[in-house]
Amino acid sequence: MNESMAGKSCVVTGATSGIGLVTARELARRGARVIVVGRSPERAAEAVAHIRRETGGEQVGALTADLSCHAEIRRLAQAIREQIPRLDVLVNNAGGIFLERLESPDGVEMTFALNHLSYFHLTNLLLPVMVAPARIVNVASDAHRGVVLDFEDLEGKKRFGGWRAYQRSKLANILFTAELARRLEGTGVTCNCLHPGFVRTNIFRDPGWVGMAIRAAARFALSPEEGARTSIYLATAPEVAGTTGGYFVKERPAVPSRAARDPAAARRLWAASLAMTGLGDPASPAPLERSP
Ligand code: NAD
Repeated sequence: MNESMAGKSCVVTGATSGIGLVTARELARRGARVIVVGRSPERAAEAVAHIRRETGGEQVGALTADLSCHAEIRRLAQAIREQIPRLDVLVNNAGGIFLERLESPDGVEMTFALNHLSYFHLTNLLLPVMVAPARIVNVASDAHRGVVLDFEDLEGKKRFGGWRAYQRSKLANILFTAELARRLEGTGVTCNCLHPGFVRTNIFRDPGWVGMAIRAAARFALSPEEGARTSIYLATAPEVAGTTGGYFVKERPAVPSRAARDPAAARRLWAASLAMTGLGDPASPAPLERSP
């Protein structure tokens, strides 16, 4: 069923292509005011034009930021807070796979910076305008299975594997979801995450053999429309309005790996993320603090 989102404000990151674009478009189709967050102004403008054309919705706008960069996330959060006094839905969706070890403008390993720290940082900065009932949706992945976080080497400085870094970043999405849900308990702001399935998108653009193999297999993958279904479900469905801390696959609750259900790892990741984003500094806006 297409739940009306009229009167609601939503932010979707990575909404210029793939799963995020469809998510933003379908939220707009349901009547929501939507802010598309993209990295390139041209692609963000194209996404807005596409969504307006497809849905007839006029309440769609764009903001741009490089989400691997702390200063850009702070600037983005400020711009969102100025435009939207009350945010109902935040979909953290932007992500990438980096087979070579790259560093963000802040000198953080790129996969960890973009896929995990951007979710953590932006969410914490937007929480002050997320008034109950509000929902946070984190796009994770079943790729998280088979890895644990290495707290001695979160950024792969000693040993780096691109796919492994991606897997760990998606594990971090699930641990972040669990810890945030715990801290938000009783506030009416929920936080869930999901695996979208294997979806034909731009994420597999690596020119090497890994990218080629994945693109060949992607002929059998889901369309972005199918891949966005669980994100849209968690953002809109009345039956999950009170659900929090969950991991969903195909619009149903699923059990993530044992490593993703480790509350000590979730707390440790929260503390590390606070330090790495500078959110733990006394001068920065206070993030949620709830003792274990
Ligand atoms: P995609 O490449 O089509 O979309 C990724 C989006 O993130 C794009 O809009 C891109 O511009 C944005 N982005 C990338 N780097 C950015 C940066 N530095 N700053 C701002 N935005 C940036 O890929 P997708 O498959 O639609 O990926 C969306 C999410 O789905 C990701 O979190 C990914 O991990 C997850 N996922 C995808 C699959 C799949 O099979 N495609 C499977 C599991 C999980």
